[in-house]
Amino acid sequence: AKAAGKDRVVAYDVTLRENQLRRIAVVDRLRTAIGTDAIVVHYQPIVSLETGGFIAVEALVRWVPPGEAPIGPDDFIPAAEDSGLIVPLGEQVLRRACHDAAVWYRRYGTTLTVNVSPRQLSEADFAARVMRALHDAGLPAAALILEITEGVLVGAGAQADQTIAHLSELRRFGVKVAVDDFGTGYSSLAYLRDLPIDILKIDRSFMPDAATGDPAQQVALVRTIVDLAHTLRLTAVAEGVETDEQTTVLRTLGCDKGQGFHYGRPAPADRTAEVLAGVVTP
Ligand code: C2E
Ligand code: CA
Ligand code: CA
Ligand code: CA
Repeated sequence: AKAAGKDRVVAYDVTLRENQLRRIAVVDRLRTAIGTDAIVVHYQPIVSLETGGFIAVEALVRWVPPGEAPIGPDDFIPAAEDSGLIVPLGEQVLRRACHDAAVWYRRYGTTLTVNVSPRQLSEADFAARVMRALHDAGLPAAALILEITEGVLVGAGAQADQTIAHLSELRRFGVKVAVDDFGTGYSSLAYLRDLPIDILKIDRSFMPDAATGDPAQQVALVRTIVDLAHTLRLTAVAEGVETDEQTTVLRTLGCDKGQGFHYGRPAPADRTAEVLAGVVTP
């Protein structure tokens, strides 16, 4: 038994080392990809549950190494965050997205929502960079939403003060702030108290799903989050909406907006332009 235990420890070390090496290789390759066309931004529609119309798009980064299959963000954002590459990467996505969305905003009033990592928010000039991206693209501040995760306040102290100062400054110009994946963290209510925010995005794990668990309890949870948002005068957005039944439940609960495969999958800018023009269905 002792020998087997020892083997297991060795095997674990090897896997750990392999993972480290793989992550270093990813970081090396990502460093050369940033600033090139290999970094692509896709857009997923967000609909008004009241009217059914497309009112916003979320920018979602893709990495397409030349001649290879696209790599999803879950496979490189963690390494980008650890290495600090998320700062130039996030800036590239923000600038590209503001540029693409400026046309859509002028034509259809569609707003843009962009994911921001805690690391970006701790940069001294974050607010200035956002304002410059808006200015260069000709997108009004009121057309931009920044999505932050509950992780932005981890560590607290000076870092958290900096984050709150950036968000407050941007909000004075009209930029809105959304809490992403709401409900999955461990201290969600403290974040609502401490962060200057406008929108709650209900994590997709809360979408009622007949296949898993008690439907009444699932619906009660979503209702509680929607009511909480409205009590705090925040907009409620449901993520991961995949069915007609979920749409009906969300509308009944008074949830404001929905996002998910039911309304449209993330798509490149040219395709998104056609979706917004009503030329193709998403
Ligand atoms: P997220 O911000 O929660 O983005 C939503 C993710 O859920 C997207 O995955 C989207 O494709 C997926 N999704 C949308 N609707 C549905 C649905 O109905 N069902 C299911 N099962 N999934 C749905 P994606 O594009 O792979 O992005 C994964 C995560 O990567 C994002 O989660 C976000 O946290 C991060 N991410 C993406 N782009 C960026 C970026 O530019 N910067 C930063 N910092 N993070 C990003
Ligand atoms: Ca998001
Ligand atoms: Ca989310
Ligand atoms: Ca997520």
